[in-house]
Amino acid sequence: MSAGDAVKVVEVGPRDGLQNEPYAIATEIKLELIHRLSKTGLKVIEATSFVRAPAIPQLADAEAVMSGLKRKPGVCYPVLVPNEQGYQRARSVGADEIAVFTAASEAFNRKNINCSIDESLARFAPVMALARRDAVRVRGYVSCTLGCPYQGEVPIADVVRVAEALLDEGCDEISLGDTIGVGTPASARRMLRSVAESIPMEQLAIHFHDTYGQALANIYACLEAGVRVVDSSVGGLGGCPYARGATGNVATEDLVYMLDGLGMATGIDLQKLAETGEWITSQLDRPRSRAGQAWLKRTPTGNVHET
Ligand code: MG
Repeated sequence: MSAGDAVKVVEVGPRDGLQNEPYAIATEIKLELIHRLSKTGLKVIEATSFVRAPAIPQLADAEAVMSGLKRKPGVCYPVLVPNEQGYQRARSVGADEIAVFTAASEAFNRKNINCSIDESLARFAPVMALARRDAVRVRGYVSCTLGCPYQGEVPIADVVRVAEALLDEGCDEISLGDTIGVGTPASARRMLRSVAESIPMEQLAIHFHDTYGQALANIYACLEAGVRVVDSSVGGLGGCPYARGATGNVATEDLVYMLDGLGMATGIDLQKLAETGEWITSQLDRPRSRAGQAWLKRTPTGNVHET
């Protein structure tokens, strides 16, 4: 790991963050959030999800969001799709990059998408075939890589098996998620290294939650192990509708502040990002991220004003 290394930050706030909000959010707010994020220098902004509306009511306006996007050249706006029908819906409104998802935990899959791991992998097959035909890039999410709310421990061998299966099906990138945020640096790095034995590190991403305040430490440990793609959510928005007690994703502001300090290149303007975090958390009446709050209150010498 050295200064100057480029890190790709995948912003998941508009999808993974907002899907867990308890109150309906206007489509205009979502579009404004994506628009503001696109001006921070972020190159990947996961925009919405084409799961069935009853499953995730908060994202029932997926078509309207995709149709209303002011696309910025050079920025990708991937969307989550659960199956072939979701794929067709996404494509009909111009989605050109998608993400599929499963869990490394059998119990979580049963509760979350009502099928086994193998059934969920089989379900993707037609989606993957269509994506290949259409030259659509596919990201695969593996959730519960460091623990599961239903079965507890998740064997690393299961994480490796699921990640390999997603790669075999044609995923271009695999995002390894600590969905409930129970990992610590050693377990996170061990899991990543095990997966990287059979999948090139360039195709791996990490997706960590901050439930126990470990997300940044876990990310740092994984950066040392060589990963260069990191998921995060502006304002630390998010949780998991199926994993009670799981708190937000690591905040993009906190992540970018750390990467800046390490001299790693993200291309993201922390000032604009912090302002965007301030705006969306006030819209949703949620607490701001720590780095975002501190950054906006700092003095010219870098100190933070007492409040
Ligand atoms: Mg998440």
